[in-house]
Amino acid sequence: MGKFDFAANRLFVPSDLAAGAVIMADAAAANYLLNALRLGDGAKILLFNGRDGEWLAEITGRAKRTCRLECQEQIRAQENGPDIDYLFAPLKRSRLDYMVQKAAEMGVARLRPVLTQHTVAERVNVDRMRSNAIEAAEQCGILRVAEVSEPEKLEKVIAGWDESRSLIFCDEAAVVSSPLQALEGLAGAKLAVLVGPEGGFSEAEQHLLRGKRYTRMISLGPRILRADTAAVAALAIVNAVAGDWR
Ligand code: SAH
Repeated sequence: MGKFDFAANRLFVPSDLAAGAVIMADAAAANYLLNALRLGDGAKILLFNGRDGEWLAEITGRAKRTCRLECQEQIRAQENGPDIDYLFAPLKRSRLDYMVQKAAEMGVARLRPVLTQHTVAERVNVDRMRSNAIEAAEQCGILRVAEVSEPEKLEKVIAGWDESRSLIFCDEAAVVSSPLQALEGLAGAKLAVLVGPEGGFSEAEQHLLRGKRYTRMISLGPRILRADTAAVAALAIVNAVAGDWR
């Protein structure tokens, strides 16, 4: 990995980034730069948009609720990450915030909330998930921003499944056995990881998932992990064995 600048301030902007590009920050970004970070004209920050890599930019002007950013040079080329979709039953607010941020830090390409029988979250705030994924990318210098899809019922997700993608199903009822063995042969494959809700999967869901040719059931050990813990444990194992930690 190239030299990572831990001290720099990173900001996600949706605009295209190129040498000389001038970007007018939106009100939230301007507030963050000018008031939270108390930066002024001439200050340097790093910008990324999830497509064009990381760019050094300078604040070159300010107005009431915006500030002018001028792109100077590309510091890091665009980096992608492992082709891993993370599917999860939405949890309650603060645990969901945590789980989305950790999955984004693990470099997943897509975040796919799935509604299962025991899912407790009432409304799923997709915009909040998107901003959590962006915040994780800003904090960790991740250049690919995970896509966040609208919640879908598990049965519908399975019915429309792209069978060229292996679905690694974290089954709390699985017989304890090595997840590493269960993942053999998946290095470099198109992957997805599925973690259930606070109440676990229903028997019908376990039956549905175990019956599919494209699923790999894994155990995460002899203890029941909280769903947000399972997310980190599963994504760490999958990245180490078949993702981009190899
Ligand atoms: N009641 C707890 C844990 C529920 S289990 C909570 O509030 O979070 C949540 C999900 O984590 C399960 O559906 C499964 O996908 C995963 N999980 C937890 N422990 C596991 C284990 N030992 N093996 C495999 N998956 C596990």
